[in-house]
Amino acid sequence: MTTIDPQTQPGKSDVPALEVRNLVMRFQVGGGARPKLLHALSDVSFSLNRAEVLALVGESGSGKSTTARLIVRLMKPTGGKILLDGEDVLKTERRKASLAYRRKVQMIFQDPFGSLSPNHSIGYQLERPVIIHKRAEGKEAVRQKVYELLATVGLNPPEEMFHKFPFELSGGQRQRVSVARALAVEPEIILADEPISMLDVSIRMGVLNLLYRLKEEKKIGFLYITHDLASARYIGDRTMVMYAGHVVEHAESVRLMDNPQHPYTQLLLAAVPNPRAGLATRYVQARGEVPSLIDPKPGCPFAPRCGKVMDVCRQSMPDVSTVEPGHWLRCHLFTPDA
Ligand code: ADP
Ligand code: MG
Repeated sequence: MTTIDPQTQPGKSDVPALEVRNLVMRFQVGGGARPKLLHALSDVSFSLNRAEVLALVGESGSGKSTTARLIVRLMKPTGGKILLDGEDVLKTERRKASLAYRRKVQMIFQDPFGSLSPNHSIGYQLERPVIIHKRAEGKEAVRQKVYELLATVGLNPPEEMFHKFPFELSGGQRQRVSVARALAVEPEIILADEPISMLDVSIRMGVLNLLYRLKEEKKIGFLYITHDLASARYIGDRTMVMYAGHVVEHAESVRLMDNPQHPYTQLLLAAVPNPRAGLATRYVQARGEVPSLIDPKPGCPFAPRCGKVMDVCRQSMPDVSTVEPGHWLRCHLFTPDA
């Protein structure tokens, strides 16, 4: 198979496929004379390269899906920038940009049943993006392309799978169809929002391995969203930890898990009940209350739950401090970079 190495593409080597800068998302909640603002994302920045998996980890409500939904342009951010191959994507109207943009950025959702149409065959649902995005032309070529996609995601024999309906498939097979549909447009980036959390434990590994293989073979960049640290470590080249809409720590996955510095990351890892249970039970679980995102207090959002809290933590949000190249965090226990 021929694959393009992004590092050897002229002009591409120095630009990450996706870059998010200072992304802010606030939702207006409650009506009446005094609507309130829910701070879903605050100053989120990161980049994602092709042929890389970046894991985004955080407990429920931390802003993971909002991040993905902004990148895929389902909503407009309150502030910040999104760059795709160095181009400012928010400059173009959402509607105008949608087809070209979706050709590059695809999303896989948590619930494969909900994201597939129950009334159409798998083949039909995979042919549509191939036709719309002109990835093959002519009836026979389109069908061959769909067979190829089915085989790529391990749905064999493709000629049989083509005619099946979603209800005839297992959860794992349905999620593989979602992956095939994302692949149909030959995207640069796939945002996978908790893609295995609704699947039986026994088949999660297979789907993760599929994503990993696609990263390697097709040089796709994945934003892998999860609340499961074990899978982030397993598949993520790098991991970002999100808390109450802030990215609080970032490092290569293995380094982060072996040497967590932020008290929240430490808490998450300590809360892992049984490491030997593998993907089954290593969920994010932590004591205490998640802070309100509505009109939040100044300071570090983790301060109320933090065992090492200091006065300064309740006063200001810490700047980014670098532990070592590629490993940074936001925590007042660390002196910020000069
Ligand atoms: P996660 O995916 O990490 O569980 P989300 O990104 O879904 O978190 O949500 C982050 C916060 O933003 C939550 O408090 C959620 O209730 C809020 N939120 C998300 N979407 C909306 C919306 N459309 N309107 C109001 N609040 C929202
Ligand atoms: Mg979510």
